[in-house]
Amino acid sequence: MNKAFESLCASFARLPGMGRKSAERAALHLAFADRKQAEILIENLRRALDVLTPCPKCCGISENNALCEICSDSSRNLSSVCLVETAADMAAIEKSGAWRGSYHVLGGKISPIKNITPNDLNFKVLEERAQRGEISEIVLALSNDMEGEATCHYISKAIAEKFGISLSRIGFGLPNGSQLGFADTGTIKSALASRKVF
Ligand SMILES: [Zn+2]
Repeated sequence: MNKAFESLCASFARLPGMGRKSAERAALHLAFADRKQAEILIENLRRALDVLTPCPKCCGISENNALCEICSDSSRNLSSVCLVETAADMAAIEKSGAWRGSYHVLGGKISPIKNITPNDLNFKVLEERAQRGEISEIVLALSNDMEGEATCHYISKAIAEKFGISLSRIGFGLPNGSQLGFADTGTIKSALASRKVF
């Protein structure tokens, strides 16, 4: 295969959720069928890399190290924190309109098998928020698998008990191991509404 085309396919194939076949289709489309779209993609990617930074408070998506739109919205109940794995999960919950508190993006889950410890995740920022007395409630919106379970227990001990924060976990109408970011709006709404004390 052509070298330039092969590297383009390889770059696409490394993206989450992208298989080899889809990578080839996307590469073909951008390189031949829609070169204008390819130029727009390059421009948007460049701009995103230049300005996007994690929000210093919730570790969600923000710009130039400023607070994100949610953390700067005083009409929200910012002391209620919905804890999610990824910014994609946060976006899915926002889209459902079922949450008017703030968020914290952990950046993954604790996993002894994959050697992911609390130090590899965004716990320090969460602990600092708790220490400053900014958090009254945490709602765990982590996936329903062993790693999600381990992470919930860690938060219960290391954050909730330590700082006297009430803790609940969303109910799940999802099969075990499902990711919140892929759930539909109705499922997310009912998962939040049926949260239980953890
Ligand atoms: Zn934020």
